[in-house]
Amino acid sequence: MHKICIIGPSGSGKGTQADLLSEKLGIPTASMGQLLRDKVAEGGEESYELNKIMEQGQQVPNDIPNNLISSWMEYALNNHGGYIVEGYPRNISQYEYLESSGDQFTRVIILNISDEEVMERVTGRRVCLCGAKYHMKYNPPKHNETCDECGSKLMIRGDNTPEATRARINLYHEKTIPVIDRYRAKGISVDINGEQSIQKVHEDILKLFDKS
Ligand SMILES: [Zn+2]
Repeated sequence: MHKICIIGPSGSGKGTQADLLSEKLGIPTASMGQLLRDKVAEGGEESYELNKIMEQGQQVPNDIPNNLISSWMEYALNNHGGYIVEGYPRNISQYEYLESSGDQFTRVIILNISDEEVMERVTGRRVCLCGAKYHMKYNPPKHNETCDECGSKLMIRGDNTPEATRARINLYHEKTIPVIDRYRAKGISVDINGEQSIQKVHEDILKLFDKS
C-alpha cells in the first residue's frame, strides 16, 4: 500500500510531481495549498481571515489543515487504498498530530532546491484573470506582462510576491526542516534533487517504486 508524502519548499515542483506520480500509481493526491485555497473560495468570515494569513506567507492555525487532511486521508484510503499528500505536515505540531492519529506514511519524498532557486521560480509566476499562467523566465508572454490569450495585464498572485515568498522560505527553514529531520530519523525519507527538469525529477521518484 502506498501512503506517500512529498515535502519541499514553494516552487520545488511538489504539486507537479505529486500529480505525475498519482497518475503512475493510480492513487489520488491532496495538495494542502489547494485544499486551503478551496476553503478560502467557500467564502465567509473564516475564509477572509485565512486568505489574509496565506497572502502574508504565514502558516495557518494547525487545526484547519489537520482537519482537512484527516478527513481526506480517510476518504482516499477507503476508496482508493492509498494516497499522496503534498504540502503537509509543515511543522512539528502537524507532524505529531499525524503520528498520534495512527496513520503513517510509507514513504516521504523530499524535494531539495536552494532558496535562490525558490525566489526565482516563485516570484517569476504571473497569472491572468482568464486562467492563463506564465513564468517571466520559463514561460514568458509574447508581450511584456500582458496575456497572450486575452490581452489583459498579468497579475502576481498575493502569495507569490517577493515579501511573501521570503517569509515562506524562512518558515520552511524554521518549521518544516525539523519535520524532515524526524522523517529522516525514522528512515522512511528519500532526498531528490528538485533543481533538475520536471521529467528527470519524475524519473528519480519512479526509481523508488521499481523496487517495491
Ligand atoms: Zn488572459
